[in-house]
Amino acid sequence: MPRFSVRWTLSVLLILAVGGTFLFCEYLIYFPTILKCAWPKISPARGGEGIDARPMDSAVRAMVLSDTHLLGAVGGHWFDKLRREWQMERAFQTALWLLRPEIVFILGDIFDEGKWSSQKHWEDDVRRFHRMFRHSADTELVVLVGNHDIGFHYEMDWFKLQRFEKVFNASSTRIVTRKGVNFLLVNSVALHGDSCPICQSVEKELIKLSRDLNCSLQGSQAYPPTPPIMLQHYPLYRLSDAGCTGQDAAPPEERHLLFREKYDVLSKEASQRLLQWFKPRLILSGHTHSGCEVLHENKYPEISVPSFSWRNRNNPSVILASVSPTSYALSKCFLPEESTVISVYCSAGTCLLLLLLAHCLWVKGLLQCLSLCLLGKHKSL
Ligand SMILES: [Zn+2]
Ligand SMILES: [Zn+2]
Repeated sequence: MPRFSVRWTLSVLLILAVGGTFLFCEYLIYFPTILKCAWPKISPARGGEGIDARPMDSAVRAMVLSDTHLLGAVGGHWFDKLRREWQMERAFQTALWLLRPEIVFILGDIFDEGKWSSQKHWEDDVRRFHRMFRHSADTELVVLVGNHDIGFHYEMDWFKLQRFEKVFNASSTRIVTRKGVNFLLVNSVALHGDSCPICQSVEKELIKLSRDLNCSLQGSQAYPPTPPIMLQHYPLYRLSDAGCTGQDAAPPEERHLLFREKYDVLSKEASQRLLQWFKPRLILSGHTHSGCEVLHENKYPEISVPSFSWRNRNNPSVILASVSPTSYALSKCFLPEESTVISVYCSAGTCLLLLLLAHCLWVKGLLQCLSLCLLGKHKSL
């Protein structure tokens, strides 16, 4: 084979291998991973979680994720920002396409720097968020507020809260009712229980909502007569993550660290108040960036939803919830692991290097062979 032809073939092979690896790691990998996920099936008779019963057409298909932490203008390297946003966009768009949720909840900390970003940077973050989490009219996107969006209690003010609420066109504390299911959204950043104006306003709203929900259970028509699914950014009070298990629980060395009230978790008082007011059948929260299942007072289950950003975890996931007015079932959908993607890149890189080395040795051998042949001919002359 002529040398030109070998070199050309090798170049084409190299381009195909590099392009194929890139295409797989950055685009295709989300498809087989998310295809493994399915909506859980619920059984009205069991009144709780289950995956082996018949599907209920009347159930709401809700996808829940948390802590996207879109990097702002100050923190984070531009490449980190580019890569994390690309990963989240691809994972979200692929999940929408394959799973077709009716409603998606994001449990706060949408933006990493909402607590201090200037108006110009805020608008840029919001524009990128809308591009990444674009969706068709069949899917509703509901966003909750987190401490990184408006600041911790001591940092938040009306300007930041209203700026956030204006972008998502809704109050941060409200009830969203779909197919007879009440989803209660709580601004958990404002539950310090002090007399700060935002805290007072949120508590007033919560008291009104709890009264309306309780009246509905007694027969009024304000809301469907069913206890709510409560969604919020901060988890309810728990001592630590020591009891958490599963592949996305906090690392063993961090699980026993005690949580600080009003910083890592809600205060005991605020948690008790929420449970008393609403008696939720399920609580979904974010903020810790790790997965956990907790049962409060032996009857109120809470799921900590891990971060959706690969900046915070090797194995982000989303919760798939099938919810009817009387029952629900949950499953966790894991997304591609960062370590798998790095392994694929490293393996492909090693193979390419070996291929290049083999080619160089082969060319070197060919040249030596040619020079020996020419030398032999010269001598024979
Ligand atoms: Zn967070
Ligand atoms: Zn947070």
